[in-house]
Amino acid sequence: MKLPLFNAPRAGLCTCLPKYNINTYLGRCAHQCIYCYAVKFPSFVGPASPRLKLLDQIESMTRNTKLKHPVMMSDCTDPYQPLEREYKITRRCAEVLAKHGFPLLIVTKSNLVT
Ligand code: SF4
Repeated sequence: MKLPLFNAPRAGLCTCLPKYNINTYLGRCAHQCIYCYAVKFPSFVGPASPRLKLLDQIESMTRNTKLKHPVMMSDCTDPYQPLEREYKITRRCAEVLAKHGFPLLIVTKSNLVT
């Protein structure tokens, strides 16, 4: 298993450089922004839930990924949900990714990032 590439449409107007994307939480983000586009995707409705399997997978995913593109956390559910205080999934993933030299792109509205 490798880090998943961000799958923005290549034929459209997207000018993003290649990057990986990890959602450390699924479900409806606790910030509940009225403009959030993620609610149209089936995996991002219902209560926010931690992706606990990532804690076991992130080390091997990172070791199996050779190209050091930046890793975005996260494009659909804010990676610093209130649940992060308890589960620390985003923190653990960031530590492993940084240890292996992957640049991080952290997208959050939460002060938990500090
Ligand atoms: S913080 Fe981001 S992911 Fe969360 S509801 Fe707002 S726009 Fe959506």
